[in-house]
Amino acid sequence: MTDTASMTDATEAASTPAVATDLAVEVITVYRTFEQDTAPVRALRGADLAIERGEFVAVMGPSGCGKSTMLNLVAGLDVPDEGEVIIAGESLAGKDENTLAIMRREHIGIVFQFFNLLEGMTVLENVVMPAVIAGRKRKVAESRARDLLDLLGIGDKAKQAPGVLSGGQRQRLAIARALANEPTIVLADEPTGALDSEGGEEVLELFRRLHQGGQTILLVTHDQPVACAAERIVRMKDGRIDDDGLG
Ligand code: ADP
Repeated sequence: MTDTASMTDATEAASTPAVATDLAVEVITVYRTFEQDTAPVRALRGADLAIERGEFVAVMGPSGCGKSTMLNLVAGLDVPDEGEVIIAGESLAGKDENTLAIMRREHIGIVFQFFNLLEGMTVLENVVMPAVIAGRKRKVAESRARDLLDLLGIGDKAKQAPGVLSGGQRQRLAIARALANEPTIVLADEPTGALDSEGGEEVLELFRRLHQGGQTILLVTHDQPVACAAERIVRMKDGRIDDDGLG
């Protein structure tokens, strides 16, 4: 090996980790087919996507184009048939269920369309619980949960049941819960889909504020005005990325 070659190798080796850590998520040519009685559904057909830390990305596309399937793969809730998903520099490939659950707790906060709140617990407990499950001390978890509820404008509802909240407030609680473990990325699947326009705007404004604070966010929606809250819009079609929004 020449000196120049070894220098190049050394430079590449030194620069590789820095590049890798800038990416919160890498989706590398993933395929996912669902076997159906009638015919297999090819939900993802070679989708590629890279999201840098701090980005607010909306994935748009018509119903059935594979948005939720891709989100589930990024969340480690489903596994691709081919291709790879890398979160914060660590591949999900070949990880067992237990390891995936640990990675999810550490890196992923998920916000669903229908909130998925624990109705039998108080608003505060809904946010404390994920942090306690992740091994944080209750006092630390409670203190962060109170801060999050204040930040999200529902601090005065801490002791109440989620049932007393409006739709927009319920989704804000779901977002507080998603943030409980300081995730690498917040994933949101049609987060305004079940809200009226006022509630929807509340939630989008909150995502914008979180983004300004440096939170990485990946939101999927079929709704253009919702996608416009993001700084980058990725368009999907037929299981692939049609436009990565990078111009
Ligand atoms: P989108 O989120 O863009 O509406 P999805 O990712 O939900 O699209 O679905 C893509 C395709 O895969 C659709 O045809 C859908 O019916 C199908 N699909 C998604 N999940 C499953 C599943 N668990 N079993 C069978 N088919 C599925």
